[in-house]
Amino acid sequence: ATPTAILVGTGRGAQLGVLIRGPEVLEKTRRADTVVLDKTGTVTQGRMTLEDVVVPAASSAASGSAQPSDATGEVREVPAREVLRYAAAVEALSEHPVARAVAQAEGVGQVAPRPDPERHGGPADGGPVRREQDGSASDGGLEVSGFVAHPGGGVEGLVRRSHAGLGSGPASGGAGLNTRRVAVGRAGWLEDRGVAVPAEVTTAVEHAEATGATAVVAAIDGTARGVLVLRDPAKPTSAAAIGELRELGLRPVLLTGDNEGAARHAAREVGIPDDDVIARVLPDEKAAVISRLQSEGRTVAMVGDGVNDAAALATADLGLAMGTGTDVAMEASDITLVRGDLRSAGAAVRLSRRTLRIIK
Ligand code: ADP
Ligand code: MG
Repeated sequence: ATPTAILVGTGRGAQLGVLIRGPEVLEKTRRADTVVLDKTGTVTQGRMTLEDVVVPAASSAASGSAQPSDATGEVREVPAREVLRYAAAVEALSEHPVARAVAQAEGVGQVAPRPDPERHGGPADGGPVRREQDGSASDGGLEVSGFVAHPGGGVEGLVRRSHAGLGSGPASGGAGLNTRRVAVGRAGWLEDRGVAVPAEVTTAVEHAEATGATAVVAAIDGTARGVLVLRDPAKPTSAAAIGELRELGLRPVLLTGDNEGAARHAAREVGIPDDDVIARVLPDEKAAVISRLQSEGRTVAMVGDGVNDAAALATADLGLAMGTGTDVAMEASDITLVRGDLRSAGAAVRLSRRTLRIIK
């Protein structure tokens, strides 16, 4: 093995936007036969857009004691507009792609202080991330306290109306008149936390997911109120990149914490069959999926961008991080794809093979 060839190879990589951590990485890259791809931000743009806010009609089944009622005791729906405002106030403190889309749609922008523990550092174990809203920011007249992000689940916080003018709310009286407990996340996660999710809400989620959307539920004071429907298209280069990895002899597998419908939709867009889609994987389970594939005799390359991908990237035989992603993902990886373009993964494989061929 000539050090010169390796130097030339890694130098060429840098020109191609492929940053290789060390000489031993070339051999690992050459050997990979499976490539596990994170969905959000790796295969897809990672920039979701809010497409719809669905507020299912309140039914008798949903009218528990938690249901706000007006002076006549009649069950009252929270309008979509108000559901979005409350959800956006809390999501403004998170940098998850879902959160960014919701906050932007409401125009509250991102008020997360930096460095954001969800993106940089963060609990590597995927534990909750706590944060207080900094300063006096109170977009839309709402203030958030007690914010907690639960990776793979959702976010929660107490939202207080800082001044009058936002939907006058039910006159339920008593303490906390101006304060609502707001949670936004996966329906299953909300239910696990004791939130009432009416059948109409579940149906709306299922409808949206069947079309390939990501659907999260907004709950106010313990009852699911609305469904936020989001979409995240594949990057224009992903299909070609995955085709090329396949031609190079690697089997692409899509791995995501998102729902089955959104996962299969994205997979179809880029030519990955349903059988090679692994959905609804919690952040701390992604690494176990990699280990399982390895125990089946596969040599696994993993491409990811999120904090949630870090353990999987480190477990894989070869970790590749999108340069557009989080620092944590890059630190856990052997290669950084500077341009955030999945085609660089194929370039890395070709480069390593060419370089090692020269050496041998
Ligand atoms: P992915 O692998 O697609 O990046 P994650 O593990 O980050 O998925 O999230 C999985 C699911 O958890 C999301 O699809 C969403 O339903 C829910 N979720 C995570 N974070 C949030 C958030 N900030 N707001 C709402 N829902 C969230
Ligand atoms: Mg991702």
